[in-house]
Amino acid sequence: MGKKYLYLETYGCQMNVYDSDKVRSVLDAELTNDPGKADIVIINTCAIREKADQKAFSSLGRFKHLKVRKPNMILGVGGCVAQLYGERLLENFPHLDLVFGTRTIPLLPELISRVEREKRRRVEISFDVEEVFEFEPYHEEGRVTAFVSVQQGCNKRCSYCIVPHVRGEETNRAVGDILNETNKLVKKGVREVTLIGQTVNSWKRGEYKFGDLLKIVGEIEELLRIRFTTSYPRDFTKKLIESIRDVPQVCHHLHLPVQSGSNRVLERMGRTYTREWYIDIIKRIRDAVPDMAVTTDIIVGFPGETESDFEDTMRLLEEVGFDGTFSFKFSPRPETPAAEYYDSVSDKTAGRRLTELQEFQREITVKKNQSRVGEIEEVLIEGESKNDPNWVTGRTSHNRIVNLPGGADLRGKLARVEITEGFQNSLRGRLIENQKEVSHVS
Ligand code: SF4
Repeated sequence: MGKKYLYLETYGCQMNVYDSDKVRSVLDAELTNDPGKADIVIINTCAIREKADQKAFSSLGRFKHLKVRKPNMILGVGGCVAQLYGERLLENFPHLDLVFGTRTIPLLPELISRVEREKRRRVEISFDVEEVFEFEPYHEEGRVTAFVSVQQGCNKRCSYCIVPHVRGEETNRAVGDILNETNKLVKKGVREVTLIGQTVNSWKRGEYKFGDLLKIVGEIEELLRIRFTTSYPRDFTKKLIESIRDVPQVCHHLHLPVQSGSNRVLERMGRTYTREWYIDIIKRIRDAVPDMAVTTDIIVGFPGETESDFEDTMRLLEEVGFDGTFSFKFSPRPETPAAEYYDSVSDKTAGRRLTELQEFQREITVKKNQSRVGEIEEVLIEGESKNDPNWVTGRTSHNRIVNLPGGADLRGKLARVEITEGFQNSLRGRLIENQKEVSHVS
């Protein structure tokens, strides 16, 4: 048989985007946007909230008719929903051929060929698969940013979170593997990498800690920027803060989930820090890097959250002055302690709090974005703007999107841009001068 076609749907976080790239990389198949043309259909799922589960189920349901029309097509589901429900997915979706877990992507070619050969549906969700990190990273032509996974799984036990259950214990990738992959991506034109892990700043391997890793990756020539996500507040050390300050490629943006501004709620969430501790760590980071932009995640309506707890969270928003917030209503997840808490907050109350919080954050974000007007920012140009081929789009070190007039020749370069307007989700600017491709964010 000649070339196979792969149709891939991805839901969820950066980790899933990265995993989907890994799927593309391990399968020798051409990507297609048309499921009707595909020999293999893979759905890479997210289970972080109940809605995400439902999306995965409805996506699986959509392929039922196609599978009837094309019985030889392989329909597979991977990611966190696959890990969570395993065998049960085969029972509930008789047209599904393959369920693979978050750590079994390297086995995919073999799994698919066994399904084809043996005409038998399969589930492979073991965590005991030996890590195979030596693969050619998938890279889309022209893309200047990429994720590099440095860690899998999580050793924290936040009471609401399903991640340790679906991604297993924390395992940290070797320095050599991280460097190899980053170098390969840089050779293909990538100029900014985001090192990803569930608690990325807890990464350690042998004598190396995450701050050392930043320094080592910072030595790669032609790599203009380094980002990392997601950090865990308690895993910030003095040495790490110094590395963030001292490695010129490290961007001045930190995503540091706080989840709640109430100590009572934080304790029930099992977050292991207090509001005061969080504020102090932000202060220490800003003492070292005064212009550090900080974004966060917040859960509202956690079981037992009172109006006063919620007010604490609202006050924290103001006190820290977050540049952006990803906020969600609490969603009980199977296999987590918080799903058993009896004192749930009504959906109506949680919804009202979410709206209030998001409106308040919007005001803060707009003010912050408008305060950039007149500033000169270094913007890594990622490519043409979607709306106008005569404009390009990129990001500042603080992770703000900037649109400006310019041509495709700017792609992959750090441009000095004067900010002329600030909106809710982006900035507008004009080019001051075009820098050489190899230069560092200062
Ligand atoms: S740190 Fe907590 S919220 Fe984050 S992945 Fe681990 S258990 Fe989940």
